[in-house]
Amino acid sequence: MSDTIERIKCLIIGSGPAGYTAAIYAARADLKPVMYTGLEPGGQLTTTTEVDNFPGYPDGIDGPTMMVQLQQQAERFGTEVRIGMVTAVDFSDEVGGIHKVTVDNKTQIEAETVIISTGATAKYLGIPSEQRLRGGGVSACAVCDGFFYKGQEVAIVGAGDTAAEEATYLANICNKVTMLVRKDYMKASKAMQHRVNATKNLEVRYNTEVDEVLGDMVVEGLRMVNNQTGEKEEIAITGLFIAIGHKPNTDIFKGQLDMDDTGYLITKGKSTKTNKPGVFASGDVQDKEYRQAVTAAGTGCMAALDAERYLAAVESKEEVEA
Ligand SMILES: Cc1cc2nc3c(=O)[nH]c(=O)nc-3n(C[C@H](O)[C@H](O)[C@H](O)COP(=O)(O)OP(=O)(O)OC[C@H]3O[C@@H](n4cnc5c(N)ncnc54)[C@H](O)[C@@H]3O)c2cc1C
Repeated sequence: MSDTIERIKCLIIGSGPAGYTAAIYAARADLKPVMYTGLEPGGQLTTTTEVDNFPGYPDGIDGPTMMVQLQQQAERFGTEVRIGMVTAVDFSDEVGGIHKVTVDNKTQIEAETVIISTGATAKYLGIPSEQRLRGGGVSACAVCDGFFYKGQEVAIVGAGDTAAEEATYLANICNKVTMLVRKDYMKASKAMQHRVNATKNLEVRYNTEVDEVLGDMVVEGLRMVNNQTGEKEEIAITGLFIAIGHKPNTDIFKGQLDMDDTGYLITKGKSTKTNKPGVFASGDVQDKEYRQAVTAAGTGCMAALDAERYLAAVESKEEVEA
């Protein structure tokens, strides 16, 4: 541990759209925010090429450039962006209490407010051809990337509600969608299964897994394997969507913050307040429903406003709403 302990007003954990938006608002409100970027500076959008649906970019923008611009905007108002991973937290239960945060297992920070924007990581299958073609036709976000495959043939892997939802979304845009389900049944709700089965250009293959994604630089096809018979089959596709779930990055908050059964942080009502006073959550880490850059940015703004109001109330010794 280092000897000197730094005390700050507002600590932001995570550097995706939620974290940077929180930083812009917090800095402009003179909270002098300090941000730790984590292992993926810029967040999930740095793993994608084209972002076409973020308002204000009529020609689209590539993800890494957009995140550099967000960083510059946050820094322009005085945000201090630091490379580092928050490795432990000790949040106070008291209104006006000080939250203790450890960075990289050594640096100790004390913060009056904390905004958590640590995101959620999309799960992938992990096979080499899938990893190689990420960004070249393999995507974990149908709503984000489906449009690029308009009128084409694609496949989607997954069996839950999100996979079913994304499969029908893709079927609206693409000529044909093949859905690979590992078991002989779908985990999705009956209503979602009904929607899948009623979609004419959506074919479900049960007991079927990805053997290999085909293509050199971009996806050109898929070799599927029936896990009961071992039979392999190749189909021509241009896009492969992986919809097997996300893991919210909340391990370090376990035992301190309320989470749902899949680890997403629970916030109160329409606010970004967690169960600890002065600790707020924004972005995908508290949203398994929408998971978009613009919604993450929106809640980042909310978290900074919530933090500012909390500090003002603490300072003027007003009663702080739980
Ligand atoms: C391939 C792909 C393409 C996408 N395309 C689009 C698109 O076109 N349009 C769109 O709107 N959305 C798109 N999305 C979704 C979008 O990227 C997310 O909704 C958005 O990035 C969520 O923002 P966030 O700030 O909540 O978290 P993230 O972007 O996930 O950022 C999380 C941040 O937290 C940091 N972090 C995690 N743990 C720690 C820790 N312990 N200490 C410090 N920092 C930590 C990480 O390093 C990272 O900086 C796409 C997603 C993917 C995977």
